[in-house]
Amino acid sequence: MVELDKSKASTQEAPGGVGVEYPLSVEAGDIDPKRKHQALILLGAPGSGKGTLTRAFDAMLGFSVFASGDALRAEIQSGSALGQEVKALCDKGLLVSDEMVLAMVENFLDSNRKENVVFDGFPRTVLQAEKLSTLLAGWAVRAFYLEVSSSVVFQRMLGRYSCKTCGKLYNDKTVVPGVEGVCDLCGGVDFLRRSDDNEQAIRTRLDVYQEKTAPLVEYYLLRGELLVVDASQPPDVVADAVLHVVLT
Ligand SMILES: [Zn+2]
Repeated sequence: MVELDKSKASTQEAPGGVGVEYPLSVEAGDIDPKRKHQALILLGAPGSGKGTLTRAFDAMLGFSVFASGDALRAEIQSGSALGQEVKALCDKGLLVSDEMVLAMVENFLDSNRKENVVFDGFPRTVLQAEKLSTLLAGWAVRAFYLEVSSSVVFQRMLGRYSCKTCGKLYNDKTVVPGVEGVCDLCGGVDFLRRSDDNEQAIRTRLDVYQEKTAPLVEYYLLRGELLVVDASQPPDVVADAVLHVVLT
């Protein structure tokens, strides 16, 4: 006969069971932290599979995506005052200021108050991350760091090419078309390789990334919002694993 141990029965596991702590601040009328809207931040080197993961959140879970480049283009197209300011800077080849990017993030969050959102390629600095945290008060925030060794990144990026017509990505070693020289999706026969996908250029991009990202990984770790993902597996497998974490 088993006796019920009441002290154990009242023990609760951490939400999601993955060691994630939700922020303590709670918006009025939003009491259960598990029911808060989610804001996910993706950190990872070029070639770590961020793009695949972002597309999976968008296509399979209906998350709204904030990608800096797309947001800049959308703002310019909207013809808003901010958009005109952004266009003037871009036309001169100048960088858009932190304040302007954050204004775009704020617009994005305002128009997605009832949704779940994912950030790809933002924030890039700790200062941006701090301001984003302020804007995300009341959201359940998680930062996923896609950790991948340089040798895996080299393998992925060195053999990378895409269909000139439809943009589908291929790789000499891992993803080849069913019929050699013919795109699986559109039947196109012309392919493109990026000129900066050579070894020296990739090493430089990785070094720059490492230098800029390490402080962000540290920032989210200290806030208890960081999840480290082994991204050396194929991007599809990684995306499945991460979606599972987000859904549970
Ligand atoms: Zn194609």
